Amino acid sequence: MNVVLAGPPGSGKGTQAALLAQSRGLRHISTGELLRQAVASGTDLGRRVEGLLERGDLVPDDLMMAIIRDCLAGGGGWLFDGFPRTVAQAEGLLPMLAELGQLVDAVLVLDVPDDEIVRRVVGRLSCGGCGLVTAQDRLGADGGCPRCGSRELRVRADDREPTVRNRLAVYRAQTQPALAALGRRFPLRMVDGRGAAAAVAQRIAGVLEA
Ligand code: ADP
Repeated sequence: MNVVLAGPPGSGKGTQAALLAQSRGLRHISTGELLRQAVASGTDLGRRVEGLLERGDLVPDDLMMAIIRDCLAGGGGWLFDGFPRTVAQAEGLLPMLAELGQLVDAVLVLDVPDDEIVRRVVGRLSCGGCGLVTAQDRLGADGGCPRCGSRELRVRADDREPTVRNRLAVYRAQTQPALAALGRRFPLRMVDGRGAAAAVAQRIAGVLEA
């Protein structure tokens, strides 16, 4: 199964993607996390994209498509978290899929009102060890990263209020049309993203079984 999981920044997309990848045995491909790791390790790519990420602007489509081509080459069974984000990315994805004989089984879009988004994003932390982005109430018992245990947790550079507003605006202007374009080719499903992570995960499971 191949799934695109989308939603505005702070919609819980990263959390749900991790849960869904685990329960279905899918490769979780978070483009945001790939980019943040590139910045953290100071690669060429990281140096090119650092300023864009900090402002909440999108990384150029040609760079993203090169990254995605490598991911798709690993075969089916993937879950995209954060891709596609522009109409050009959605349109670039289609011939790559056709070439590889892959399909998208579902495009899931988490739907969360803006006031809940702002509340969620303000409280979240990013792990300096593995890059995981998590809510403060999901830390391990010792206050460490729930995935790798690192205590190096900080607010993501792009989780400050003006940047969050910019990311929301970018989502409306560029990502919603991209999802609509992809949804004309593959099944597009809106999922209510409000409430506890477990409740949202159940809704997603229900949508995938329907
Ligand atoms: P969020 O969805 O909460 O904004 P992500 O971790 O998905 O967080 O993305 C963080 C940042 O990484 C984005 O604001 C953007 O700068 C960059 N990015 C991630 N995916 C893409 C993409 N497909 N195209 C362009 N830029 C991207």
